[in-house]
Amino acid sequence: MNKKTIALVAHDHKKPELLAWVKKHIEAMKQCNLVATGTTGGLIADNTGLEVERYKSGPLGGDQQIGALIAEGKLDALFFFWDPLNPAPHDPDVKALLRLCSVWNIPVACTSATADLVITSPLFFSPDHIPFKPDY
Ligand code: PGA
Repeated sequence: MNKKTIALVAHDHKKPELLAWVKKHIEAMKQCNLVATGTTGGLIADNTGLEVERYKSGPLGGDQQIGALIAEGKLDALFFFWDPLNPAPHDPDVKALLRLCSVWNIPVACTSATADLVITSPLFFSPDHIPFKPDY
């Protein structure tokens, strides 16, 4: 079975929540290739021992690197705990990343409640579930 590649991103105030979520779903995480923006990825790797491919920090282009993965058809899901209460200097990149998820029909979870449902769905790891890919 091909491993799913999933991206993990959290803004600073949401990093503890994402780390707790990753720990809660550690067995599922072990079944995935993990990629992340720089600081998020470092936090997860240091606190869980999981192998995480780290891109640049979000404000320095990491969100766009994950967007590039989506454009290349190499990402299966995005878990993006963005902060609704604080402005981000890279807000255009955040919007662009979320937009590409819609362009390419990528499952994206922005809250831990949604993320719980997505990662525990029987469809998530099912080889029979092949998401529709738009033909532009
Ligand atoms: P970080 O980036 O993981 O490097 O903090 C996340 C973001 O701000 O998009």
